[in-house]
Amino acid sequence: MPGKLIGIDLGTTNSCACVMEGGERRVIPNREGSRTTPTVVAFTDKGDVLVGHIAKRQAVTNPQRTLFAIKRLIGQKFEDPKVEEATRRLPFPVTRSSNGDAWVSVGDRDYAPPEITAIVLRALKQSAEAFLHEEVVDAVITVPAYFNDAQRQATKDAGRIAGLNVVRIINEPTAAALAYGLDKKGRRELLAIYDLGGGTFDFTLMEMNDGVFEVLATSGDTFLGGEDFDQAILNLLVDRFREQTGIDLSKDRMALQRLKEASEKAKCELSTLDRVEIRLPFIAQGPSGPQHLEASLTREELENMVRALVARTLIPIEDALREARKAATEVDQVILVGGQTRMPLVQAVVRDFFKREPNREINPDEVVAQGASIQGAVLTGEVKDLVLLDVTPLSLGIETQGGGFVKIIGRNSTIPLRDSRVFTTVADNQSRVEVHVLQGERELAEFNKSLGRFDLVNLPPLPKGVPQIEVAFDIDSNGIVRVSAKDLMTGLEQSMNIRPSSGLSELEIQRMIREAAQNAETDLQRRDDLKYIASAEGLLFSCDKSFVECGKFLNEEDQGLVRDTLNTARQAVANKDIQGVKAVEGRLLEVQKLLTNAVLAASEAMMNALEGDDPARPKGLR
Ligand code: AMP
Repeated sequence: MPGKLIGIDLGTTNSCACVMEGGERRVIPNREGSRTTPTVVAFTDKGDVLVGHIAKRQAVTNPQRTLFAIKRLIGQKFEDPKVEEATRRLPFPVTRSSNGDAWVSVGDRDYAPPEITAIVLRALKQSAEAFLHEEVVDAVITVPAYFNDAQRQATKDAGRIAGLNVVRIINEPTAAALAYGLDKKGRRELLAIYDLGGGTFDFTLMEMNDGVFEVLATSGDTFLGGEDFDQAILNLLVDRFREQTGIDLSKDRMALQRLKEASEKAKCELSTLDRVEIRLPFIAQGPSGPQHLEASLTREELENMVRALVARTLIPIEDALREARKAATEVDQVILVGGQTRMPLVQAVVRDFFKREPNREINPDEVVAQGASIQGAVLTGEVKDLVLLDVTPLSLGIETQGGGFVKIIGRNSTIPLRDSRVFTTVADNQSRVEVHVLQGERELAEFNKSLGRFDLVNLPPLPKGVPQIEVAFDIDSNGIVRVSAKDLMTGLEQSMNIRPSSGLSELEIQRMIREAAQNAETDLQRRDDLKYIASAEGLLFSCDKSFVECGKFLNEEDQGLVRDTLNTARQAVANKDIQGVKAVEGRLLEVQKLLTNAVLAASEAMMNALEGDDPARPKGLR
């Protein structure tokens, strides 16, 4: 693999990239110097695309064109109730694509979630390139353990659109365990990874044994995270404000955005303080004039509001322990991951449950990216004695007659893996069977996630129950699935890669790759244009100043010319109109010459005046 490989933690709220160099993990700072980058993309009125902190900062004034929490939508169907739930909280419109996927709408354009995610990934790639002084192509990207095949595939697609070669998708908690265990190779420990981030909760039980990491069980909740805590505070603020003023802020997008930011800030501060004051001036306009929101919140009040959310994390934990046949007290280390685990209540609940102090050795915001870079180093051979045995998070199987679901691969099976089962026909002379591939834990097919369908045709005419059709599932190390069906009598075979389930066809992906590359050029062009306009603005400023001070030393015709030119230039600069600036540039330089002469004439006049005032000064000397 040529070049450096980076590990990327693509978070719901924040993303982080890391690289292994000479056995050391180095977190890659972004262009602003921060070690994590908000997973936020914004489109401005002027057509600029902003990523990260700069996008997050302008969200208040541009809420409908600022996209965040896109990870909640990636690889998801529009009709999914969880998408519906997420949509209610997002200030931008979520739309249904032609094949039923959840897309997002900005202005008059719809975007697929992988397309937006790719913008963030491209920014991380560029930061890595600036940091490492070389092109970066290969990446390991992490996803929540609970992501299904469609979500993993869509994440991989996002990487491709960003110009990355995604060599491996690994589960976030698995990455965290790698980061914890890299320098503890000789030990044997049962690890519990408790990952509560901005948008998702993941729990993984893993055995670390002399450099071998084996996932025993993984579970989680893709719709539980720090944002829910923020929402609880936000709801409280809206209620209190309504009681005090009778004004309902929940309909005002701009106010909601400000409330959301203030709620998150208060939440984070309450991890170290006992009480915070929340002040949002001019939040609404009432009959008696502008209204300000002022509230105070204690840690205890917050804890009472979110206790149920924290308790919800124990459900998947109990599932995973049951699955792995382990008791909570057998766990040797509980590793905390994700910014939300900084909350004292979360730590207390974890401590109570496992009867031990959680481990906070590695920064919870960076541990996953570090693990991804370690996995990358394992793949490139830089790290030798680590082996990662990952598992598939959900069962895989097919639909049978009557709408049942038959599991072929159980959840939490170690991957890569191949498994098969033999099925038969249900009617005499049946010449075709349809294989409907699904993922999930429900007994009825309709309640599981459909991954795709294909037909096995031209079966020889035989009585029902006689043909033997082997359906095989192959899962590669990324957790991505290939299914085949084979008539064992004729050897006839049909297979499918579970590709289209990301919702994007190959053609669409290619279009997005092209557009992303074009946008990269356009972005660079736009940046150059803005620099050009800024230098014209500097020239305009100095000409303006000279004209105000010395314009009267020009004849009337020249004064008119200067005035016209400066007006035209001012307009072009104000509109950030590069063509306009270019068109007026020549005239502006002419005007600069005229004004230089005017400044000279002015200073000469001043000297003459001074000489006139000072009879003692000999003539001809300055
Ligand atoms: P992550 O997805 O890991 O970046 O986690 C982000 C989540 O952690 C967001 O919901 C943040 O508001 C939350 N978070 C960050 N710092 C703190 C803190 N000090 N206390 C509580 N929550 C925090």
